Amino acid sequence: MNEAMATLTAADAYAPRTIKLNARDNVAIVVNDFGLPAGTRLPDGLTLRQFVPQGHKLALVEIAKDRPIIRYGEIIGYAIDTIAAGDWVEEARIHMPDAPELDRLDIATAIPAAQEPLTGYTFEGFRNPDGSVGVKNILAISTSVQCVAGTLEFAIKKIKTEVLPLYPNVDDVVAVTHGYGCGVAINAPDAYIPIRTLQNIAKNPNFGGEVMVVGLGCEKLAPERLLPKDDPAGMMRLQDEGNQSFGDMVDTIVTMSEARLKILNQRKRETVPASELVIGLQCGGSDAFSGVTANPALGFASDLLVRAGATVMFSEVTEVRDAIELLTRRAANEDVGRALVREMDWYDAYLARGGADRSANTTPGNKKGGLANIVEKSLGSIVKSGSSAISGVIGPGERATTKGLLFAATPASDFICGTLQLAAGMQMQIFTTGRGTPYGLAQAPVIKVSTRTELAKRWSDLIDFDAGRIASGEMTIEEAGWELFQLILDVASGRKQVWADKWGLHNDLVLFNPAPVT
Ligand code: CA
Repeated sequence: MNEAMATLTAADAYAPRTIKLNARDNVAIVVNDFGLPAGTRLPDGLTLRQFVPQGHKLALVEIAKDRPIIRYGEIIGYAIDTIAAGDWVEEARIHMPDAPELDRLDIATAIPAAQEPLTGYTFEGFRNPDGSVGVKNILAISTSVQCVAGTLEFAIKKIKTEVLPLYPNVDDVVAVTHGYGCGVAINAPDAYIPIRTLQNIAKNPNFGGEVMVVGLGCEKLAPERLLPKDDPAGMMRLQDEGNQSFGDMVDTIVTMSEARLKILNQRKRETVPASELVIGLQCGGSDAFSGVTANPALGFASDLLVRAGATVMFSEVTEVRDAIELLTRRAANEDVGRALVREMDWYDAYLARGGADRSANTTPGNKKGGLANIVEKSLGSIVKSGSSAISGVIGPGERATTKGLLFAATPASDFICGTLQLAAGMQMQIFTTGRGTPYGLAQAPVIKVSTRTELAKRWSDLIDFDAGRIASGEMTIEEAGWELFQLILDVASGRKQVWADKWGLHNDLVLFNPAPVT
């Protein structure tokens, strides 16, 4: 860095900076590290009447008593008394709107108009026999029960050292292991969720349609239930008579894998339209800037993907529940709106069964960070879904079969959400984080987006995209969205590798099992 640049950066750090997220907003957020003092003159000429802390809102115009306070283009509350332009819009000055009941929601009343199609964008992917496209070429070995995990891991080590080098077009061999399969109420009403999750993960487009299952032999979940078609050659049980020793079991697994590696090795990347992308969105370890930088940039990228004809899934029921009335309005039709309500209803009942609720109240940390209420907090989360119409809803573990913006109902838990999005057919996940997590998946690349530049610098070998540049004024939300969109195409094409894959940082899959364990 030369001296002139250093001077510029230092001056930049002191310039007052605010962010307005939507043209309709009558408030903006202060970005500067220690807030902005009273008397600060903003670039547009507005002068602050009070100190406004970092992450908090200032009024851009006078907001009369009882008039709406608008952020993210939505009403987050009403002014208790008149708020002057340049005032700090504190929590105490906002009357929170009543949360509508699930049976009184507006459905499909504000369907966003279709945005201009985005044509000509492509990536280099692996076309599969079923028409889907993978962004990786992985042999995934499914399991019907946890009992086989150790043996399979042993066999995979052998495959990776002795067999995989012979098939250079195959990226990896991955075990799909989990805690399900035995010691569970296999016929309980909700058992369909973990079972269909495993069935659909085996069909993930990154696995090329080559399903292979390792079972034990006495488990409740029969391994053949994980085979998409009746194909005995795709399955082995450790207890099969032919296996007279541990060595035999390992050899059988290695031999079966070779047959599939041969087929997968013939897969070649080809140019396909961006409409073949199936992208999962998630956040983990959020902070005050999640809804200001990373999630809005992701929302813009999500709109670009939808305009390009791709499938984009957002999830995490407990993070959208309190802004559900905004989502049902955006539903493309009545059926989609009703499906959204159905998933919220199911989850409310699931939590109630466990004596829990969605802890609707914002935490003291949220409020200190500038989030006045749960509506504002949820808006910061759902902003990553962009502004497109919601064209479909899928339940936990279901596979997505339509294009456009989908809500895939999952818990917010990073591992469970990732696992369910893989079952939905996700090829790649975009993960926004403020606090930081080295999260990754062996089955699909995960692009990690930081909310702040400080985190991106500190973890420069873990964070793939720095959305903090929006707060520092280096780029706009739109520019960040376009850059992220391009990064998605590069990672999908194998031109760029995410940090988690470079280091091999891969979390366990965790099934969502709302049914009893025995
Ligand atoms: Ca999460």
